[in-house]
Amino acid sequence: MKNEDRYLKNIEKFICSREPESRSGILMKDSARRLGISRSEYLQIEKPYAFIYQRLPVEIGGEVLNISSGIVLHNRARGPFKGGIRIDPDVNIWETTELARLMTLKTSLADLELGGGKSGIKVDFHKLYEGLKDKLKVDFYPFMDRLKDHIMREFVDHFVERGLVRTYVPAPDMGSSGAEMMLFYNKTHDPAVVTAKPEGIEGWLPGRREATGFGTSYATLKYLEQVGKNPADVTVAVQGFGNVGSYAAHYLHREGCRVVAVTDFYGGVYNPEGIDIPGLMEYAAAHRTVKGFDDKHTIDNAGLFALEADVLIPAASGHVIDKGNVGALGVKLVLVEAANMPVSWEAMGMLQQRGVNLLPDNYVNAGGVIASDLEYKQGVGGVRFNRQQVFQRLETKFDTMWAEMNERREIAGSFSQAACDVAMERTYKAMRTRSLI
Ligand code: GLU
Repeated sequence: MKNEDRYLKNIEKFICSREPESRSGILMKDSARRLGISRSEYLQIEKPYAFIYQRLPVEIGGEVLNISSGIVLHNRARGPFKGGIRIDPDVNIWETTELARLMTLKTSLADLELGGGKSGIKVDFHKLYEGLKDKLKVDFYPFMDRLKDHIMREFVDHFVERGLVRTYVPAPDMGSSGAEMMLFYNKTHDPAVVTAKPEGIEGWLPGRREATGFGTSYATLKYLEQVGKNPADVTVAVQGFGNVGSYAAHYLHREGCRVVAVTDFYGGVYNPEGIDIPGLMEYAAAHRTVKGFDDKHTIDNAGLFALEADVLIPAASGHVIDKGNVGALGVKLVLVEAANMPVSWEAMGMLQQRGVNLLPDNYVNAGGVIASDLEYKQGVGGVRFNRQQVFQRLETKFDTMWAEMNERREIAGSFSQAACDVAMERTYKAMRTRSLI
């Protein structure tokens, strides 16, 4: 048995399962071939540096719940492990691994001095609530907020105990936000321990909250410009109206695009004339959902996907478009991956055959970590960036990434493969320079 194969078998034996074939793995393998990276070098880039499993016991309603959490430290060739904390019922070790790998590809594509990592906390608040609501006599949101706070405090304690401060720098991801990040600061009083800290906390960054949505909108507008489309003639459908989807819709609306459909976990709004996005943002901030904003014009996720909009932006969970439903998509021009890995590998190929372009996640949603990079620099370096500098930085980074991707697109075959080539090459070079491979 070859050394590399033995190495893979050992990981799988240890974790007692085989990593499912991943989209980032396929993309990276393809890039390695084009870049002349050998199989054993490739494995050094693709496989994570470490997996950490952490049980988080929390008490609620007189019962102790054991919540599973994991941290995957993927690559730190170019700087500290960086990536968000996902709190979701579907979290599993391999998904967290793929998300960590994607962070390496994201920070590297944006040429940030950061690596890739990710945390996952597996919890289903809705299910837990169903089991406990009669006993606790409390509404869902206060229940979830309180339980999440307990879970996060436990997570932060272990994070600090394990010496991960400034080794792995977390940020929000699905299910977490500034409120949870603040707990890292409360525990350590170190402004560089975490990014996306809420306004007013030492080292917070103006514009960090809007950065991912702004970047998504900026990336979309650059594409439209390249294909000669006027934003005023473009219709947009956005799946997900959390931090990313809402700000993406906001900025696209501001630039004149017609956002015709928006959905979230609970419901959706449809208006072919264009939705009043500022009004919807206000409504969603007060009600924590878009459901109920306009009861006469509703839409569900399947309906949103089927809409014949020019631009489709999945901005919620991953794996929402695969070979089973890609045929039913109505998108005409471009699919913009604001979420991480919303489209499966097969579905990507099928979209390309149909002539629909796809802008990949490690480019589209890089705005968050680009801003995080500035916030981290503030934390360690005593520098300060104002709002204007943050947005300027985002624009410059997106301009550069877009130029690099366009340069390689023809040889690589697609924007996704071009983005992966740029990222892989940079990570590979850093690992070579540091004699890590
Ligand atoms: N969770 C975000 C992402 O997937 C942000 C990561 C960060 O800022 O570290 O890019």
